[in-house]
Amino acid sequence: MSYRIPFNKPHLTGKETEYITDAVATGKISGNGKYTGLCQRFFRENYGMGKCLLTTSCTDALEMAAILLDIQPGDEVIMPSYTFVSTANAFVLRGARIIFADSRPDHPGIDEQKIEALITPKTKAIVPVHYAGVACDMDMIMDLARKHGLWVVEDAAQAIDSYYTGRDGVKRALGSIGHLAAFSFHETKNIISGEGGMLVVNDPAFAERAEIIWEKGTNRSAFFRGEVDKYGWVDVGSSFLPSEIIAAFLWAQLQEIKKIQQRRLAIWDTYHQLLQPLQATGKFTLPYLPEYASNNAHMFYVVCRDLHQRETITAGLKAAETHAVFHYLSLHSSPYYTSRHDGRHLPQSDRYGDTLLRLPMYYELETKQIEEICSVIH
Ligand SMILES: *Cc1c(COP(=O)(O)O)cnc(C)c1O
Repeated sequence: MSYRIPFNKPHLTGKETEYITDAVATGKISGNGKYTGLCQRFFRENYGMGKCLLTTSCTDALEMAAILLDIQPGDEVIMPSYTFVSTANAFVLRGARIIFADSRPDHPGIDEQKIEALITPKTKAIVPVHYAGVACDMDMIMDLARKHGLWVVEDAAQAIDSYYTGRDGVKRALGSIGHLAAFSFHETKNIISGEGGMLVVNDPAFAERAEIIWEKGTNRSAFFRGEVDKYGWVDVGSSFLPSEIIAAFLWAQLQEIKKIQQRRLAIWDTYHQLLQPLQATGKFTLPYLPEYASNNAHMFYVVCRDLHQRETITAGLKAAETHAVFHYLSLHSSPYYTSRHDGRHLPQSDRYGDTLLRLPMYYELETKQIEEICSVIH
């Protein structure tokens, strides 16, 4: 069925095809050209990130991270169960065992308090997911990583233009804090290129190898910079670069990021204001933001009292031709992982799987449509 108010609508700034035409006219449309450079520099300069490498998806960026960390069969990686499959798959592909952690009672993100008890001598990495663009407590996670000698890979797929304020009072962009971080520009995210992603390498020790893995295991990038006089096969790698056509599209989006974020935040605030009375009377709960986290308006969701309430609201919205969606069935109890999981119950993760409902959220969503959605929910 098609909905009058869809869940998502990809927003175009209007410059995408102009930049794509320009990229095509240069005669070089494979990867790592002018537009790739512009996008990568944008993130370094505006968000204090380390080396940035565009990829064809966040999934690819996570797979690069697993290769870079040299994950071996039997290594353990800690991450929330309430997340997208790619967070886990990237490490499972290298033979890792995933040790799933529960979510926080007040927020779907990983319960930072529960991580340390899961660390064993086999643990290699922690992968916090900044759910809905809301920061995990990165001071706590980085402290644990230092104490136990672990790597931290931020799954920042949803976290563009969002921040964490640490104990030192410094506000840092999500994706600039962990040793590595992965972003997504899938059409359901705030800034898009159809499919697309980016690996951020904040620990300079990984920078050179990241570029080699990105370039199919060759030192081609160093060759083009004139640092070596021939290029060849120096390591494992794959084809993780997007074409310049995708980068040109992304560049058009990045130039409008302020405007896009402003509108999304206004939509988020309208939802919050109109649904607040229902939270006040205990009908359901609205997103919680810890004081150290900023809001990037990636998503607006409600956490229902139970599955029945979620089904009732979803059906009511559907009758009004409005598409609200739920997501993430706990990965620890998925058909693929149940038999591999260690059997621990993760009640918060299962609760969000049953009760979290995402409302339509996209640039073109009109205020009167938000009012209509909220009155149906009321
Ligand atoms: C969207 C998303 C991904 C995957 O991103 P792709 O670019 O589609 O590969 C991974 N993790 C999380 C948390 C996501 O929301």
